[in-house]
Amino acid sequence: MNLNTISEVKRPRSFEDIEWRDGHAFLAGGTWLFSEPQIATDTLVDLEQLGWPALTVTAEGLEIAATCKIVELHDFKGPAEWKAVPLFNRCIDCFLMSFKIWNAATVGGNIVMSLPAGAMISLTAALEGVCTLWPQNGKPRQVPVVDFVTGMHTNVLQKGELLRSIFLPAAALRKRFAMRQISLTHLGRSAALIVATVNDNGDDFLLTVSAATPRPVHLRFAKTPSAAELRQAIDQRLPPDAWFHDVHGSAPYKRHVTHYLAEQIRAELS
Ligand SMILES: Cc1cc2nc3c(=O)[nH]c(=O)nc-3n(C[C@H](O)[C@H](O)[C@H](O)COP(=O)(O)OP(=O)(O)OC[C@H]3O[C@@H](n4cnc5c(N)ncnc54)[C@H](O)[C@@H]3O)c2cc1C
Repeated sequence: MNLNTISEVKRPRSFEDIEWRDGHAFLAGGTWLFSEPQIATDTLVDLEQLGWPALTVTAEGLEIAATCKIVELHDFKGPAEWKAVPLFNRCIDCFLMSFKIWNAATVGGNIVMSLPAGAMISLTAALEGVCTLWPQNGKPRQVPVVDFVTGMHTNVLQKGELLRSIFLPAAALRKRFAMRQISLTHLGRSAALIVATVNDNGDDFLLTVSAATPRPVHLRFAKTPSAAELRQAIDQRLPPDAWFHDVHGSAPYKRHVTHYLAEQIRAELS
């Protein structure tokens, strides 16, 4: 849609060129920004000219620029020992996807939206991602993805603060994974997106619950848990009021499917 409150689009070539004030909004893929009126915004700050490389592989892991497009992440081929890379496409396929989302939406835009069904939140939280944030005045800071989202459509970003990148450590990318997703309707928005990762020797089992809860939740076990240990840990960490109720599923439904899918995942990885 046309945004008739916008009087200027800035295209800075560096972060230092941005003089932030109220009324500014960062523009990434624009798929959400242009989907509804932005009455509090008069200036878009387009991130494209910053020219960040989409994906950078190092011995330590993978740096995903916030401006990396969904299609670029989909086409990524990692080193053979990064067994978790196929999870990228499994999560991408959970998007209620249109041509526009596929080709224009960015990984950073999806994380900053901080919606429970944000598939890039599920992916990067499950792979122990760490966000690098650039505040307007101050030094860059690092925040784990699992702590970045604070609730439905809320996160830790301060005014004018930019999500620069998400770093996935090689140790997480080397782990085995299992994943399940469910929606109330065929190709509908995720009601639960559950991932677990584990080392080859069964150590460091990490369950990530997302979409069923307003923000992603980690449950970490030194060894792959038993069915009873997993069930008990989920109930302890997520009491009945911790589940996200919306048109895509009631809280009791989401709790039920999380238990069901988490047990499938546990059995698959055992
Ligand atoms: C057909 C359709 C289906 C969808 N299905 C889903 C779905 O299944 N699950 C889901 O989670 N979402 C879904 N969405 C919404 C989707 O999450 C967003 O449209 C998309 O992720 C936003 O990414 P973008 O790059 O286009 O961001 P933009 O629209 O450009 O920006 C989104 C917000 O993030 C801010 N922002 C963007 N990048 C940064 C940054 N680097 N630092 C700081 N702030 C930034 C912008 O200022 C804006 O407030 C759907 C949308 C559509 C149109």
